[in-house]
Amino acid sequence: MLTRGRALVAMLRILGDRLWKTKFEEFKKLVASFGYEIVSEIVQAKDKPRTATLFGKGKIMEMKQICDEENIDIVIVYNTLKSIQKLNLEIMLERPVIDRYELTLEIFAENASDSVSKLQIELAKIEKEIPYIKLQTSVIHQRDRPFTRAGGEYGYVPKLIELRKRRKRLIEKIEEMRREKINQIIKRKEMGFNIVTIVGYYNAGKTSLFNMLTGANKKVSDTPFTTLESKYSALPKYDNILLVDTIGFVLDLDPKIIKSFEINVDDMRYADCLLLTIDISESTPIIITKINTVIQTLKQVNALNKKPIIIAANKIDLVKNNEELNEKINTLSNQIELLLKNSYPIIPVSAKKKIGIDKLAEKISETISLLRNTTSDN
Ligand code: GDP
Ligand code: MG
Repeated sequence: MLTRGRALVAMLRILGDRLWKTKFEEFKKLVASFGYEIVSEIVQAKDKPRTATLFGKGKIMEMKQICDEENIDIVIVYNTLKSIQKLNLEIMLERPVIDRYELTLEIFAENASDSVSKLQIELAKIEKEIPYIKLQTSVIHQRDRPFTRAGGEYGYVPKLIELRKRRKRLIEKIEEMRREKINQIIKRKEMGFNIVTIVGYYNAGKTSLFNMLTGANKKVSDTPFTTLESKYSALPKYDNILLVDTIGFVLDLDPKIIKSFEINVDDMRYADCLLLTIDISESTPIIITKINTVIQTLKQVNALNKKPIIIAANKIDLVKNNEELNEKINTLSNQIELLLKNSYPIIPVSAKKKIGIDKLAEKISETISLLRNTTSDN
């Protein structure tokens, strides 16, 4: 396989973060799946990050040595970097340094096939680029004239002017497309359709489940973010229910990423019901953390609003036996109730082995019927 380059992956592990190992493993999967060769990895434990460099000086020296010895092309950092941290690390390591957010945008950019996603990604990149270039310009300026104080004049370098213009145009264009899309959704709803949106982490099997439920044929893969474009498709055998497959969440998702995908979030906001898909073969604490993150994020972006949620416990074919499965579902059910003060139906399925798909469709239809009856009662 063609490699994008030799990478050093690094993480600043904040003391007390018990999930750091899982996060780092997931991050490395992300890096490798995008085609970087992970040559070396470094984790520093600290109670808080250094403002100017994220890592401590000694750790950076160690990284520099690895970079030179191992011929590293790029350093990829788990933590979100402030412009000043990125710039300082690049200067000290003498190589490009990107963070998880930039990596995610790169992966998004490669997967995006529709114009809405492409524009949203371009905007997100520009939003990150502007403060970085501003800082870079001011650092170079100060180096040339060490006694002048920082001022606003760097804001007028041609590159920045161009980027700001482009940003403005992108915002307008995206807003226009967004209005158009919302109008479409509203029209469908006025025609009597109810919308069920599939949410959950990447790799849980959302697209596989969508395909099984609707008979569609969307691309499935174990690389994150294969799904960017949301697609609406009818649930056969039941009247007027549209299913939507959406972008997947990643553990410890940067809130900025969600913000950059407002149009995709609209699919969640306008849904009547959410189908939260989990991978039941993962360990219970991981599943609970993921469910909790999805619910909290949906709350933050105003997409929850007391909607009914059905949990599809996918990949039951990977669980040893029925006993273990039932025990797991019971534990999950209890812990969710404790944590979220709410209970949700959990339907065991396997999208791959086509188990439980009809039962899940039935549950969806039942939930929507209930909604329809309550609305007509009002
Ligand atoms: P998404 O990222 O949530 O949309 O997940 P995908 O539908 O793209 O599936 C991710 C990976 O999980 C793919 O390799 C699928 O073949 C696999 N997968 C999906 N459903 C199942 C299942 O029920 N059992 C097993 N064993 N694998 C599954
Ligand atoms: Mg998908």
